[in-house]
Formats: sequence, structure tokens, C-alpha cells
Amino acid sequence: GKDGGSAATSNNVYVKDKDLAWLPARLKSQTDKEAVVSIPTYDDEAAIANDGGKNANKWTDKVVKLKEYEGGTLPMANVDKAGVLTLKEDMVDLPFLHEAAILYNLKERHRQGFPYTRTGDIVIAINPYQWLTHLYTDKMQDQYANKMVWKAGDSDPRKELEPHIYETSALSYKGLAVDDCNQSILVSGESGAGKTETVKICMNHMASVQKGPTGEKGGDGLNEVVKRVVESNPLLEAFGNAKTRRNDNSSRFGKYIMLQFDRDANVAPGQRVPHCKIAGSKCEVYLLEKSRIMTHDESERTYHIFYQMIAAKEADKVKIWKGLKGTTNASFKVIGHTDTTSIEGKSDGDHFYETVEGLAKVGVTGDSLMTLWRAIACVLQLGNITFGPPGGDTEKSCVTSKSEFDSLAELIGINPTELEKALVERTMNARGEVFKVPLKPDAAKDSCEAFGKEIYSKIFLWLVREINDATMAEKNYKGARKSDFCTIGLLDIFGFESFPVNGFEQLAINYANEKLQQKFTKDIFKAVQEEYKFEGIALDDILYDDNSDVLDLIEGRTGLLAMLNEECVRPKGSDKEFVYKACNTNKTSPCLVQDRLLGPLDFGIHHYAGKVVYHANGFLQVNQDTIAPDLIEIAKQSSNDIIANHMQNDSMTKDDGNGDAAAVRAGPKRGKSNMASDTLWNKFKNQLTSLMKQLNETQSRYIRCIKPNPIKKPNIMYHMTTVEQLRCAGVVAAVTISRSAFPNRLDHRACVERFKVINKTKGNKKDKSKVDYKDEVTKLLTAALTPLQDETGKPAFVVGKTRAYFKTGALEFLEGKRMEA
Ligand code: ATP
Ligand code: MG
Repeated sequence: GKDGGSAATSNNVYVKDKDLAWLPARLKSQTDKEAVVSIPTYDDEAAIANDGGKNANKWTDKVVKLKEYEGGTLPMANVDKAGVLTLKEDMVDLPFLHEAAILYNLKERHRQGFPYTRTGDIVIAINPYQWLTHLYTDKMQDQYANKMVWKAGDSDPRKELEPHIYETSALSYKGLAVDDCNQSILVSGESGAGKTETVKICMNHMASVQKGPTGEKGGDGLNEVVKRVVESNPLLEAFGNAKTRRNDNSSRFGKYIMLQFDRDANVAPGQRVPHCKIAGSKCEVYLLEKSRIMTHDESERTYHIFYQMIAAKEADKVKIWKGLKGTTNASFKVIGHTDTTSIEGKSDGDHFYETVEGLAKVGVTGDSLMTLWRAIACVLQLGNITFGPPGGDTEKSCVTSKSEFDSLAELIGINPTELEKALVERTMNARGEVFKVPLKPDAAKDSCEAFGKEIYSKIFLWLVREINDATMAEKNYKGARKSDFCTIGLLDIFGFESFPVNGFEQLAINYANEKLQQKFTKDIFKAVQEEYKFEGIALDDILYDDNSDVLDLIEGRTGLLAMLNEECVRPKGSDKEFVYKACNTNKTSPCLVQDRLLGPLDFGIHHYAGKVVYHANGFLQVNQDTIAPDLIEIAKQSSNDIIANHMQNDSMTKDDGNGDAAAVRAGPKRGKSNMASDTLWNKFKNQLTSLMKQLNETQSRYIRCIKPNPIKKPNIMYHMTTVEQLRCAGVVAAVTISRSAFPNRLDHRACVERFKVINKTKGNKKDKSKVDYKDEVTKLLTAALTPLQDETGKPAFVVGKTRAYFKTGALEFLEGKRMEA
């Protein structure tokens, strides 16, 4: 090809680039080992075009080593004769499917205003960072809802509609209503990728089915329960979301919402218009970020609700703070300085009254509402308490912020002397003897903050219970049991994380992601098997990367979890000792990072999504997740019902008989001598196990959210970060699995049309409607690909029911022939 000139098709390839991941390139010549390509240069990353280089400043020659590429060949671009990208709604239909092709297909579609793209059954959702309102109209909702309800044997209706997350919600609904199988939608992606918005969009879609399949309003309308279900989202966001550097409305907890549907017994399964209506929902939450309650980075904020409360009208605030006037952001240390007074275009004050409305919907009003606000005010106030040495005795401490402390005692409703004692002393129990040990000022401050964090996390769980109590179908329908309803679960959980410094939280998050990845891989594998079966193709073994080694390292019998729990019950346990033992015991694991340069508190794991080094400082303490018994005891004296009665309640529903209700009966948690059974790890592991079990009983669908750029701008896609996310989301792995036997594919008709110039067999061409494409393809490929047969005479392709599948090199070979012709 000429530099920058019109491009021939077969020499459009991609080459690796250290800044831009993949660059479109033109192949000029190649030997066994090297290729000479012409590559474009651009002004800036945002300007990179997808047109094979039309917007390039100039083209330069470059020599590339072929051994750096899979199979020793440069990946081919999917372009037409003019060198313009051919885009596909379903990436599976891309003749050449590899990471670069995925990147450019997504990027160009995103630029053209199509944020959703399919890869088989997975929907990839690029955060548009602008509301493309035409995508979410009632009409669109109905279109997808009506279209997706089809019977086995009908042609795939997805082909007639643009990819959309409505497709996922509609298919799930169909799976529930028609096929009578519980469903789940697993939404993943990094912070800011759009998980929470996606879940809300899907939920609203499913709630809209309420209106009847033809979308007539009136009919049933949205009943009170559905409204509560939908409105529970902003409530959870007020209490569990915060502004972070990566996302102004970042969820700092994971959640699984099960929408409960009630089926009309009079409608036979398989009927096209099922009557299956939302009857309620139940929500489970995971790992609220505790540290954020008391401290946050300068450019970030703590939980929205704090700002909302302070932005309330003075008359409302005076009631909350028991007559205390003039509370502002500056009144509270945990709030710190912030310039942000609105989130997503709405002021904190407006949000406050919206939260009040939301709370009213789930029945939190009057006294109960005031109790909630005061409990939160206590958390704020706890952050203001300071301690110092009484009379210069640095071994002890006393409260030094007298008036702040008096306000606190008043708010929390505990005798100030008792409260102070609980904060500055620790009750110890040694050899049957009980005695008090004074805390130094720093330790007293720590215990005060720990108290605040504990109260807030329990408030959050209390809220979840209130929401569930108001939304759970079995509560709203007299005499009904949970099993009377079928469910669609929506999972909105933190994606894989890797930061410059990674702590306990990242380990827990990445562990959850490994678990989900394992399920994802299995599901994809199953789908591939089904595809080949449908196409009638006998399949050799498919090899794929399985991440059970990593899971073994984390949760195995002598894995990291076990080691950490063990260290937590050892009287002189330390973070350092944990790291040493964990690494030593697991030194033969291929997933443990072997690096002599790691410090004594560091250990590394090769996760499926990449290597992560963790810093174990504070692991033991975080894992124990207990606050001093003194604080638990004093909390019981609070006149605030939430604080007094819910400090040891971790359950997610009010009548959850097992789990933590049992813990409450067992009395206060003991200190370090306690068994390791209620460590944070164990709790999280149990939650995760239960989640996986629930998911395994459903048919799962996947939405992979991608954050196209870190600057939160529409229409721009950064290559490196996007490719990184595609890898983490398992999109590339999914493609690899599905392509391992036959990397390329074309449907029969596309194949015949694309290669008609080299078709020597000239079948019946006259009457187009009568062409047997399958037959045509078989003849064409048998003739054209004879040179590529292996020693045993096995062809380099197979012809399935609807598609032709090509072995490595076969499609490239045909492309070459086409160019020559
Ligand atoms: P986190 O893990 O931090 O909670 P997230 O993946 O849940 O992140 P969201 O809060 O859903 O991310 O999305 C971040 C922001 O991106 C939203 O506040 C919104 O501004 C924008 N956004 C997400 N999805 C869409 C969409 N479909 N259309 C327009 N804007 C969107
Ligand atoms: Mg979120």
C-alpha cells in the first residue's frame, strides 16, 4: 500500500504499541521473523481515528518482530476495500476476532453513539458519560420486552435489534416467565464503569413490564411495592455511596438485589404473553467501606448522607441536633473541607429531601426517622471528640473537647461519665481476673473512631433490613412464602482492583472477582459447547485457563485466608508473621509472586487479571473486625434505639433466624481470645459462598461495563485502560475460549458473498432466493482451501449449520486469494 493512500484490504493489520496498545498498520513486506509495516502517528490519543489512519499526521515505516505476536502473525484488521473498519453489533461476527479487533470495534461504535455491543451472550456496555435519552424511552423498553419473548425454534430476535442492556433484562424476564427458571444478571466493571446505573436501567425495564407487554399505561400501573423496590436504589446510594476521585457517585459496597416475581397460575408456561409481575425485592449487601466513615482523601468525600443532613433546612437540623444551631460542614472533622455540594447535578439539600421521601416509602418516618438522623449525627460528633493526657499523665487519657463531648452524650443519650470511661479504658480479662487498663490519648481516639465506624456500619445494615422489610414479597403478600416467588437477581459488585498500595479490602474484592471469574469461565465454556453442538460440529477438547490455582492459594485449606485467621487467634500474632507463614506454606503455589524484593509485610498474587502486591499492614486488626466489649456494653445504654439494639446485628432481614441473631443471643463478642469464626474474612467468605450458591441455581447473564476514559468525558476512548479492562472482565478470555478450536468464522451467506471472486464452483447463481448457502460454502471452501489440508487430509475449516469455522491461517489465506483475484 502507498503511505497514507487508499488501502488494500489484506495488508491492514494491527501492531503492538506501548502507549496505544494496538495501532492500525499496513503490512509492506514480511519474512519468517520480521515484518515491515507502515504506522500512523497522531497528535494526541483522543484524535486516533478508526479509519485505518485517515486522521494520522504522517506514516512511518517500522520493523516488527513476529515472535511477539500470537501464532507469529500480525492480527488482521476487519476493513472493507477502502480500508474502513467494518463494524459488528456482535463481535462474534467479526471475521478476525482478537483483542485489537475488539478494541477498535468497541471504540468506533462508542464514537458513533452505540455504547452497547455483544460478544455472544455477553453485553459490553461502554459508559457513554452522557445521557443518550433516545436509548431509554418507553418505546425502546417495549420494543425489547416484546421482541425477546420468543419460543424455542424462532429465529434469534436479537439479530433484529441493536445490542442493548434491555436485551439482557428482557431475556432474563423471558427466562423467568416463559422458561420458568430463576435468573441473574451479573454486572461488573471498575469504579465508574457504570455498574450501578446499568442495574438501575435494567431494573426500571423489568418494572415497566408491569405496565403490560404492549406498554399501555393504566392497566396495572406501577403499584406501591414496585415503587418501593425502584426507590430503594437512591436510598442505598445516599448511605453507601460517596464521591471518590474515580466516580462522583461511587458505591462503596457490593449488592445483590433479587427481584421477586409472582406468576399468574392461569397462564401456561410457554405462552407468549406471560403474566409475571414484580411482587417485591430482597437485597444483600457486601463489605461497606468502613475506613471512609472517619477519614477520606482530600479530593474525595465521606458518605453522601452526612452532607445531605447538613444541607437540610435549619428548622429540620435543629430537631436532629437537639436544638444545636448552625451546624455546617465545617462543624465536623470527618466531613473535612469539600467544594462539592452537589452530586450528579442535584444539590445535597435536594438529595436530603429525596432521601426523606425514599425513607418514608419504606416506612421510616416520625420517631424512627429522627432516631436514624440522631444516630448519624452521633457518628459525626464522635469524629470531633479529642483526647489528651489528664494532668500530664501520658499513660492515661481524658476527653479534651468538653462541649463537643457534652453534645455527643446528649445526642446518644448515655451518661457522660460512663461514656467517657468506656472510651478511655479497656476492660481486660486475664486468668479469671477482670481489671481496667487505661488507654493513651491516641488509643482513645482510635477507639472513639472505631465506635463511630461501627455505629455507621450498623446503621447501614439497619437500613437494609428496613428496606427489605418493606419490599420483600413474602412480607407484602399475606400467607406467602419466599418459595412462592421466582427471582431475577442483579449483582452490582466492585470489579478487580489493583492500586499502587493494596490492602485487605482489595484482597477481599479480588477474591470475590476470582470466584465470579471462575463461574464466568465455566458458563462461557458451556455456551461454546452448546454453540458447536447447535452447529453440529464435533469438538476436540477445548483448553482454557482455569483460575482454581489462585482460588486455592486464597481459600484453600492452608491458603492465605486460613493463615490469616490462624494468626488472629495466636496470642502474639502479627501481620509480619502472617505474611511469613502464608508465603512459606504456599511457596510452591504457581500463583504466589516470588520476588525477593518484596518487603516483610508484602505478598503478591498472580490473579487472572494480573499481578497484585498486597501490603499486609493492619490485616490482623481489620480481620478481627471487633470493637472493644466496653463499647458494645456502653452502646446498649444509649437512648437511641438503633445504637442500643442493633450493634451486634449483621443480618440483612428482620426475621433472619440464623446467623447474627444467634450471635446476639450468645452475648457480647469477646476480645482476641475469641474463635476466629467471626473474622471479617469468614463473614465475607460465607456471604460469598452463599451468593455463589444462589447464582448457581440461576441462569446467569453477563454485562461487562467499561470505563472508556478516566476523565469522565463522552466520545473518547483511551486504548490502554480499555484493553486492560477488557482483559480483567474476561472478554478477551471469553473470546479466546470460543476461538480456541477455530479462531475465525463467517456465516454462510457472508462467506459466499465475500469470496465470490474466487468461487470456481459457480453454483446456481440465477435465482438468489434458492441459493443453498451451506452447500455453496462447502463447495467453495473445499476447492479453495485444499492447499491447507493437514498431513492426514483434514481440512482447515468445518461447515456448521449456520456458519463456517476456520482454523488458524485459513481465513487469512482466503483473503490473500481474494486480493490477488
Ligand atoms: P462504582 O464502582 O464506583 O460504584 P459504577 O460502576 O457503579 O462505579 P456508576 O456510578 O454506575 O459507576 O456510573 C458512574 C457515572 O457514569 C454515573 O454517575 C453517570 O454519570 C455515568 N453513567 C453511567 N452509566 C451511564 C449511562 N448509561 N448513561 C449515561 N451516563 C452514565
Ligand atoms: Mg456503583
